[in-house]
This record gives sequence, structure tokens and C-alpha cells, in this order.
Amino acid sequence: MDLQLTGKTAFISGSTQGIGFAIAQKLLEEGATVIINGRSEARVIEAIEKLRVIVPEGLISGAAADFSKVEEVNTLLENLPDVDILINNAGIFEPKPFVEIADEEWFRFFEVNVLSGVRLARYFFPKMLAKDWGRIMFISSESGVNIPEEMIHYGATKTMQLAVSRGLAELTKGTNVTVNAILPGPTKSEGVGEFVKQLATSANVTPEEAEKDFFKTARPSSLLQRFASVEEIANLVTYVASPLSSATTGAALKVDGGVAKFII
Ligand code: NAD
Repeated sequence: MDLQLTGKTAFISGSTQGIGFAIAQKLLEEGATVIINGRSEARVIEAIEKLRVIVPEGLISGAAADFSKVEEVNTLLENLPDVDILINNAGIFEPKPFVEIADEEWFRFFEVNVLSGVRLARYFFPKMLAKDWGRIMFISSESGVNIPEEMIHYGATKTMQLAVSRGLAELTKGTNVTVNAILPGPTKSEGVGEFVKQLATSANVTPEEAEKDFFKTARPSSLLQRFASVEEIANLVTYVASPLSSATTGAALKVDGGVAKFII
């Protein structure tokens, strides 16, 4: 299947590792021009070098910006070219008992997980409407519909992304701009490797035991009963980024291994 992505330009927030990096790789392999992003210049350069080895013919560049720092986001926006595809992927997660989550952390999670996508969409959405073509995706999570008791702040931000995504889609009526949310389930990214280590430390078990226990106790409804690979998430995102997905909009698309126990 030709995904018709040649000539399209994509920006992916938080793409120096994990799901974002895998999305960058797939889009490059499909011929899109890709702009990656991470917090530091060094990490961006490192990720570009890695991608150049994997996809030597890929058209890739990068821009560093920390989405918890509004001045850096403003500078980023001033320097980015127009994009056809916006993937709001940057996100943070950390298990923490509810009573220990301070106001500052609630604000930080809101700014990185929600406001990052809001700020980018506020800038790119009118441009997409003006040229009557665009793709915006919010990488939410099944945690947005199954709020994890070990990180309620994270779940809350992921629900909010679903609301922003659907609300924005309402503003696209009759155009060729689509807005969708993607709901990955537990996925083996670098960030999740750290998360499993933290669970292991707090339960005083090995990371392998913590991983098994995670599916037994925290995500028993998983039909996969394993972490998805980052490539499995990127495959869906790449399809939704393509012109071929033109009738898919306003949707919350699960790629969660069946964890969220509802049919639609
Ligand atoms: P990760 O920690 O492996 O990667 C996150 C990326 O975001 C990194 O490139 C990091 O540099 C970047 N990032 C973090 N904070 C940033 C900031 N302030 N400014 C700019 N960039 C920043 O995580 P991941 O597992 O690949 O997660 C990516 C997205 O997928 C997140 O939004 C996450 O909520 C979502 N998600 C992940 C899972 C999972 O199990 N891995 C499941 C559902 C949803």
C-alpha cells in the first residue's frame, strides 16, 4: 500500500526516543519529511544521526525545545516551517501516590502533556485549515479512559487530550483536515523501561518480575498480556497521518492490546 506521504512534512514532539522516535522512523520510511524534537540539542542531534543510519535517504531535521518552558516553545514556533502533519507525542509519566502529588507536579504534567499539543495546534491548525489539508494527532493513552490508580495526574492529562482532540475535530467540518487521538496501551518504550524499574524498586522485586506482575495486577484486562512494541504504535499513527485515512476523524483510536474493556 502506498501511503502517499512523499512531499508531506511532519513535526513530532518528543521524538528523540520511544514511540515518537518510532513514528519518525516510519514516516521517513514512507517518504515524509520529518522534523523531530527533544529537550536538548545534543539528544536531537543524536536521534537524527541514528535515523540517518536507519533511513539513509530520509529527509530529516530537528529542533530542540522543552515543552515545560513557554519561551522555548515560542522560539520553536518562530523557527518551524509549515507542517502538514502534527503529532503531539511529548509526554511524561511517573507512578506516584495521589496524596504525594504536589500542585507543581499537577501543573508540570498539564503543561507537558496537554498544553504542549494545545500550543502547537493553536499555531498549526489555522494554517492547515487555510490550505485545506492537515493531520493532527494527540498521542493520548488507554490511561485516559482507564485512570491508573498509581498515577492519577497522568490519567487526567490523557483524558484532557481526548477532549481537546475531539473539540478541535469539531472545528474541521467540511474540510480535509483531520484530528484524532491515539490510545496506546502499555508499550515498551525507553520511558516505560524506567517506569518498570521504579515499580520494581518500590515492590522490591526484579524488573522482570515487576513486568509480569504489572499485567497480572495493574493491567489484567490486557488481551496481549505483553507490552506492545513502539513500532506497533507507529504503524497506526503512520496510517492516520496518510491521505488514505481521510474518513477517520474526531476519533479516539485504540492500539492498546485490548486493555480498555469496551467495544467502541
Ligand atoms: P518516552 O519517555 O520513552 O519518550 C518521551 C519523549 O518525550 C522523549 O523523546 C522525551 O525527550 C520527550 N519529552 C519528555 N518531556 C518533554 C518536554 N518537556 N519537552 C519536550 N520533549 C519532552 O515515552 P513514550 O513511552 O515513548 O511516550 C510517548 C507518548 O506516548 C507520551 O505522550 C505517553 O504518554 C504516550 N503513551 C505511552 C505509553 C507507553 O506505555 N509507553 C502508553 C500510552 C501512551
